[in-house]
Amino acid sequence: MIRRRIFLSATSALILARGFLMTVATPVKGAAADNALDARLRAIAGAGMVGSHTFDYLTQLSDEVGARVTGSPEAAHAVEWGLATMRAIGLENVHAEHWQLWRGWTRGSAEAWLIAPTRRKLLVDSMGWVGSTSAGGVDADVVEVNIADMANEMAHNSGNWAGKILVVVRKPVANQRPAAAGGASDFASFGKFLEKAFQIHAVAVIGGQGGAKAAGIKLTHTGILGFETYFDIPVVSMAAEDQNQVERMLDAGKLVKLHINVQNTVTAGPVDSANVVGEIRGTEHPEQIVVVGGHLDSWDLAQGSTDDGCGVATTLGAAEAIVRSGMKPKRTIRFVLFTGEEQGLLGSFAYAKQHQSEMANHLGDVILDSGQGAVVGFDLNGRDDLAEAMKPLANSLAAFGAMKITSALEFGTDTGAFTLAGLPGIDLSQAPSDYNISHHSPADTLDRVDPAILTRNATIQALVSFWIADQPERFASPWSAQKTEKMLKDNHMEEELKEFGIWPFGSH
Ligand SMILES: [Zn+2]
Repeated sequence: MIRRRIFLSATSALILARGFLMTVATPVKGAAADNALDARLRAIAGAGMVGSHTFDYLTQLSDEVGARVTGSPEAAHAVEWGLATMRAIGLENVHAEHWQLWRGWTRGSAEAWLIAPTRRKLLVDSMGWVGSTSAGGVDADVVEVNIADMANEMAHNSGNWAGKILVVVRKPVANQRPAAAGGASDFASFGKFLEKAFQIHAVAVIGGQGGAKAAGIKLTHTGILGFETYFDIPVVSMAAEDQNQVERMLDAGKLVKLHINVQNTVTAGPVDSANVVGEIRGTEHPEQIVVVGGHLDSWDLAQGSTDDGCGVATTLGAAEAIVRSGMKPKRTIRFVLFTGEEQGLLGSFAYAKQHQSEMANHLGDVILDSGQGAVVGFDLNGRDDLAEAMKPLANSLAAFGAMKITSALEFGTDTGAFTLAGLPGIDLSQAPSDYNISHHSPADTLDRVDPAILTRNATIQALVSFWIADQPERFASPWSAQKTEKMLKDNHMEEELKEFGIWPFGSH
């Protein structure tokens, strides 16, 4: 006590001499408040890291529920499992929030054979929400379509597409700026190509999401080809090794013929889906809400353990850590397992619509959806005004490694609807892992996930959420629509979001 007082008066004297009294008074007061919050964070960190069930949740989801495509009976099972698990953890107000998926889709079979110039079976899987070949399949010649030169291909070469299998390639075009392969603009313009290919009666298209080649050794990658889109032409992902051979043969001037048979079914009308919601109510401002989540739906070539079983498990593990710590946040933490993410962030957009009247009371959302890598930072999705305020949190979490605070824009997960609402959609950034290989592929299995990293990530998700909810002053309020619109335009997002059909602002 005496030593501390001596230290303080010595410091005060020095500061007074320099005329900086105000500057020093604020941090000391702030430090006291931070210490109180830090004590609460310590309790949550302990509860998160000792005796956690996070990996058990992922094991149950992977092996008892399994693949869960939005709108399927398996997805309905996942919703029931999510509700039961949230109740067992002890969350309040646990319920399902139903929304309608515009069309349901079921994978049947997909098969391809090279029949000329040589003969062997090729590895393919159907993309999601695409059509079928005629029953029994079709034999057809293969022609290349260069995605790097798509406008020219559509205008001048599409006359040759009727009755053909189109393989999407990427080849440099003279006098053209090289674009990143599989970039967002490719993904957005790919839909126009598929519509044209269908109109012209092409047989099928070989090309993954946006024409990107499948990553990994002998793997396919499924996925939808737009936001809330169905294309009535069969589109397959082919293992890169097989596609490379087809391309080599075509480049050598050979006639390449395939047999292809793709069978899927699509519903005529909407099907039911539901987000799973549970809360820890705030003690001082229960009407103010921070959403924490991941997406419950997955693709169906494996178990959806990394995309986004990891985010589901960390969200539930975060809830468990906070409940077990006994700490009550000042504001409400709402845990949401979204569905329909893989069809265009549909569950989170449905959430924003259903909760429109209370969106102004939200403080943002905290999402984990980059798979199995360790959390290494927070991406604020354009809200760089909050970066400075988050630094004390990063400092408190230093034992988990350096946390980098960024504000890059990303519309590939359930932060998008919050970003468009002017709120911080916070993506937990993750270290590189084999996620680019596992997600959407037959390798999306439990084996890819390290329980220690998963449990650590759940603990960090709990700490970030609680820290936001428990700030003395409100962490964030939504920007005005004008300010959000300007930020998105300044970041050159307008054209892309319009192509995706999710630009919510006027076009002045
Ligand atoms: Zn995902």
